[in-house]
Amino acid sequence: MPARGLFNRIVELFRQRLSSLPDKRTGKNHRYGMEDAALSAFSVFFTQPPSFLAYQRMMEGRKGKSNAQSLFGVHQIPSDNQIRNLLDPVPPEQVFPVFEDILQVLEQQGSLKGFRSLADTLLVALDGTEYFRSSQIHCASCSTRTLKTGETHDFHSVVTPVIVCPGQSQALVPEFIVPQEGHDQQDCEMTAAKRWLSQHGQRFSALKVTVLGDASIATISTVGIICLPSCWKG
Ligand SMILES: [Zn+2]
Repeated sequence: MPARGLFNRIVELFRQRLSSLPDKRTGKNHRYGMEDAALSAFSVFFTQPPSFLAYQRMMEGRKGKSNAQSLFGVHQIPSDNQIRNLLDPVPPEQVFPVFEDILQVLEQQGSLKGFRSLADTLLVALDGTEYFRSSQIHCASCSTRTLKTGETHDFHSVVTPVIVCPGQSQALVPEFIVPQEGHDQQDCEMTAAKRWLSQHGQRFSALKVTVLGDASIATISTVGIICLPSCWKG
């Protein structure tokens, strides 16, 4: 399938998943569909403007609008506040099946072959990234760190597995680093990576995968590279 056709197929699957997101609106004002809100939010990251405000300004121009509408088929472009109101109540896990949808399309189209490198395996890099930090705002899902100055930071982070190879990459379902029920100790990158391997290892072992980890994750194995055997059960 040509690249453009593959992209359109992925967007179509994305739209299908997003259209079934739970809609918490109770009134009759349903001007925007959930998929329009979610695709508008996604296009922020796709087009990589410096901020949501810059994105909104770009959307006000003809070029931005045509990008969101032609690339992602967004019918109506909601404002950033409308997007937040619609998407904030949606648990992120509701969007997770999209990652498997995309992986299956790549597999069916034979596009995963282009990602194979070391020993003909897919290299899956597990790495953590912080996406929120504050010394004033916090919630029940925050992790906490105390600096040498005595100041306390609350933050949110996530392990973001990615199939990597020279020239291209493919994001896989993430694992959030959040306090776990029944655990006194704070969650961390390594335990989140272990959870991911336990949950998804069997699926990826079928694809012949080599897992890469940096120093934070490498303690799972002594060398930082794990080949998942085909008999992996988590
Ligand atoms: Zn928080």
